Amino acid sequence: MQPRDLSDHVAYEAGRGIEEVARELDRDPSEFVKLASNENPHGPSPAAAVALREAASSVSSYPKAAHADLTAAVADRWSVADEQVWLANGGDGAIDYLSRATLEPDDTVLVPTPGFAYYGMSARFHHGDVREYALSKAEEFEQTAAGVLESYDGDRIVYLTSPHNPSGSTIALPEIETIAEETDDDTLVVVDEAYGEFADRDSAIALIEGRDGFDARDDVAVLRTFSKAYGLAGVRLGYAVVPDSWADAYARVNTPFAASELACRAGLAALDDEEHVERTVETARESREYMREEIDAHVWESEGNFVLVDVGDAETVAETMQRRGVIVRDCTSFGLPGCIRITCGTDEETERAVETCNEVLADLETETEADAGGDGDASIDPEVSDT
Ligand SMILES: *Cc1c(COP(=O)(O)O)cnc(C)c1O
Repeated sequence: MQPRDLSDHVAYEAGRGIEEVARELDRDPSEFVKLASNENPHGPSPAAAVALREAASSVSSYPKAAHADLTAAVADRWSVADEQVWLANGGDGAIDYLSRATLEPDDTVLVPTPGFAYYGMSARFHHGDVREYALSKAEEFEQTAAGVLESYDGDRIVYLTSPHNPSGSTIALPEIETIAEETDDDTLVVVDEAYGEFADRDSAIALIEGRDGFDARDDVAVLRTFSKAYGLAGVRLGYAVVPDSWADAYARVNTPFAASELACRAGLAALDDEEHVERTVETARESREYMREEIDAHVWESEGNFVLVDVGDAETVAETMQRRGVIVRDCTSFGLPGCIRITCGTDEETERAVETCNEVLADLETETEADAGGDGDASIDPEVSDT
């Protein structure tokens, strides 16, 4: 026998890991830095690492108290009720819970393109279909209510990513409010704030709760994760904050013990370690500014812990940088074959990334000129040939 027809489904393409690349190129892993998956260059919160070690001896029990404690701590952090916090196996797990709670067969979800692949994947798992709205490279990937609503057609979920992966653009809360207001009553607007800590923006939780002059709404949910600013990508922990009228759906849709004992203990410790998050955010801000100033190609303004760079031929540039020890994300799978995404690293990593990127761009330009007979014809200058 066979699984069901999965021909519409695509495999998630993760950023490449150091071990994987080193093995493939038959080199030592220590020669590489990985700036491909928006991970935390400072590692996990040290307090979380201690909590993980301490929790090791109690993993024979199901995580009951820890799950309840973390839910309460997250609820407290956002001043919402415990029932509004849906812990999950990563932000991706929270996306699945929202799909389970909303989608009927053939319902559609509206997602950004370029954008995060898992929104569509999750919808398809739940027998839904995917529709897209475009964010334009030429318009700095600007996100507006008008731009989203133009493509809206009664979709059950509208996904917004703020800051947006891979561009780093954001959407203002009044624009989100307009989208929620103008869409049908049973359309849920999901605001993915996986990179929210890095942005100079308030959380869209203000729309759910009716704070800061907004009316409270029952059609907005917010997604957060411990994978990025908290440095816990490996434990898989994230959550959705939902309207209070949605509270009892969680018990009906969640996989029992949605977050593990280790994840919950690590999450509790990380939430308390403000210093680690502040340091992480500060490093990302400096790194993205530095890359914007120093890279010899267009770098979009970013509110995340990464920048998108217009390099012309992403595959070649990413591959060449990788051979020179810096692993970055080729954005072809996001639908941006001209761009690479570089994660903000430590000062040292960022400097190495900039240096390597500039060397590769310069070498490719020289090669292109040589191919054309070395006359430096402006029409084949890679900086101007890509649109
Ligand atoms: C990283 C990321 C997530 C969540 O990742 P998890 O590791 O599953 O928590 C969600 N949305 C976007 C846009 C991301 O980049």
